[in-house]
Amino acid sequence: MDRKILLDKIDIPGIRSFGVFQNAGGYSAVEKALTTMSPEEVVEEVKLSGLRGRGGAGFPTGMKWSFLDRKSGKPRYLICNADESEPGTFKDRFLMEKIPHLLIEGMICSCYALGVNTGYIYVRGEYKYIIGILNEAIREAHANGFLGKDILRTGYDLELHVHSGAGAYICGEETAQIESLEGKRGNPRIKPPFPAVVGLYGCPTVVNNVETLANIGFIVNHGGGEYAGYGVGKSTGTKLISACGNINNPGVYEIEFGLSVREFLYSDKYCGGIKGGKALKAVIPGGSSVPILPAHLILQTASGEERLMTYESLADGGFVSGSMLGSGGFIVFDEEACIVRNTWNLARFYHHESCGQCSPCREGTGWMESVLHRLEHGKGRQKDIDLLVSIAGKIEGNTICPLGDAAAWPVASAIRHFRQEFEAHVEAAVCPVSQIH
Ligand code: SF4
Repeated sequence: MDRKILLDKIDIPGIRSFGVFQNAGGYSAVEKALTTMSPEEVVEEVKLSGLRGRGGAGFPTGMKWSFLDRKSGKPRYLICNADESEPGTFKDRFLMEKIPHLLIEGMICSCYALGVNTGYIYVRGEYKYIIGILNEAIREAHANGFLGKDILRTGYDLELHVHSGAGAYICGEETAQIESLEGKRGNPRIKPPFPAVVGLYGCPTVVNNVETLANIGFIVNHGGGEYAGYGVGKSTGTKLISACGNINNPGVYEIEFGLSVREFLYSDKYCGGIKGGKALKAVIPGGSSVPILPAHLILQTASGEERLMTYESLADGGFVSGSMLGSGGFIVFDEEACIVRNTWNLARFYHHESCGQCSPCREGTGWMESVLHRLEHGKGRQKDIDLLVSIAGKIEGNTICPLGDAAAWPVASAIRHFRQEFEAHVEAAVCPVSQIH
């Protein structure tokens, strides 16, 4: 259960450079795809692999690719979504910084499969130093004949460009990202039409996450069937997890799907247990947008089965007793953490990042933030708790893009599982942990 696909070469000295990467087998997938496979065959292998989008939604990548309109006669585009801005999620940064050619190799294979001649990597503005790393990797790939005109004398042309975001979380949403790439304010679009039909510059476009695209080289080299042999059930392959919070070993880990949450949390190979030997209180398992789970529900499902690091197991129980794998940002809270304070913190973030287009999100996120602020500062009323539940319920499912849900779920789940803690803040008229008035 600890086979690696993405980080197996990460410790090779100099792996960031083209020469070392190629000597370690890099770019063989490009050679194989372009010289021995048709674009359709590459798409079929990706479908066979069962690879699901690693940005958060978990949609099957091969299926997403098959929606791309190939008959319009317009240019087609691939955008690599590297706008990793979800609090608690920092695994794409690690991949791009340490082994950028894995992404470039995956993008070339993907562009070839999709009939794309121009691709973009949209990087969050705060990752400024990574833009230089990616541009250098693209320059090296160009110099060695893997980008540009007539790649490997196959007649296939491809250019990749790096584009910097300007610090807006919402630009991680694919249609907002497309707007931003077009030079406009990053407001999400109403769907349909979907980007596969009307995307960048009105042309068919696929948007895939960094980690998703980094898997494509392995799938081309080894076949979708072998990839599907990693993991369990519909959670095929491996997943990068960025672990943070009150643990002994914060960092980025590649896990094979099917590892138990308990082992991930307590084994020295991964998180190494709770810092200071304290008790576990809660975990947000998939980045700040997904529901928080208390200790007993993150380790076991409500039906008593061991919780696994898979899409299905983490979602077991729905939002009553389950959560989501999301982006793989694993945030751990020990017994001394204040859930009210954390929830207020997240509400503040989502309010700040709301683009303001829809009323439930624009008004509701601000309202939740101010109610949570007074609860955390000892000024709350008991009826504020139900008020928060009501506001979250009115945001969820009533907005243009998923930011509304992302703002509502942390609040609703925190109250669902830690209501007593909210009540205690009201009764004590102070935060019992921080003593803030
Ligand atoms: Fe903008 Fe929020 Fe509506 Fe998304 S849900 S479009 S972020 S206002």
